Amino acid sequence: CCIVGYIGTQPAVARLLHGLRELEYRGYDSAGVAVLQPEGLRCFKAVGKLDNLAAKLGDFESSGPVTAIGHTRWATHVKPTEANAHPHGLTHSQVVHNGIIENYVALREAVETPFLSQTDSEVIVHLFERHLATWAAQAEPALDQRAETPSSAADPAAGATGDPTVDLTLAAFRATLDALHGAYAILLVSETAPGRIFFARKGSPLQLGFAEDGCHFASSDAPLVGGCSQTLYLDDGHWGVATAEGLTLFAADGSPAELAPKPLPASS
Ligand code: GLU
Repeated sequence: CCIVGYIGTQPAVARLLHGLRELEYRGYDSAGVAVLQPEGLRCFKAVGKLDNLAAKLGDFESSGPVTAIGHTRWATHVKPTEANAHPHGLTHSQVVHNGIIENYVALREAVETPFLSQTDSEVIVHLFERHLATWAAQAEPALDQRAETPSSAADPAAGATGDPTVDLTLAAFRATLDALHGAYAILLVSETAPGRIFFARKGSPLQLGFAEDGCHFASSDAPLVGGCSQTLYLDDGHWGVATAEGLTLFAADGSPAELAPKPLPASS
């Protein structure tokens, strides 16, 4: 149903919950947040109202640099249970997804890893971590080579961010998107690239805004209003990676993309 995200140094949980509450009127069956801090990645989920998620969170709040994603789920496939709530995580990454992955059954069979949920969405994080593990297992020279070939037409992520590890993570994200059929707005955080949110939009809305306190993501205007004076509406097919200060953005064909910010009202 709805997606929010935040990269910055301010308390993230309060921001995410506020954003999700702004979209509560749309309806949902469960909710969750994932918070990546220097101490590690934490995920909290609950069935039912956001108050249930707030109760699960207790007095947990981030402090210092944080990368965080949140979601309210409106089940398209399987039951609203805590396991089926988003975010979905594996070893060192968490993902939230709006939309439907049409080929998820085939993809689930292909990845062969045990699944924690029955959703179409969980396969995204499995594919991502599989790509990352395969490539990270390659020798270090492969990483150096990537950094030295920024204009590689075959791999738009090569050299894109100037950090070989982030480039590799971005390439794994891109390869994951290539396998997905259907509609999606996706946010993904990974311990391999802290301080960054990997994002993609195809057939489901997604936008972001930069403010003094960092970078915010949302699936519609309301969560951004008040905090951000401007927003960037991603075009269909856009994907990339954001930090607190900026983003690396690509079109569906892998070519670099740019977006003009649009004004947001000061209050809703
Ligand atoms: N298809 C996904 C699920 O059922 C996402 C649903 C949504 O957009 O909230 O978990």
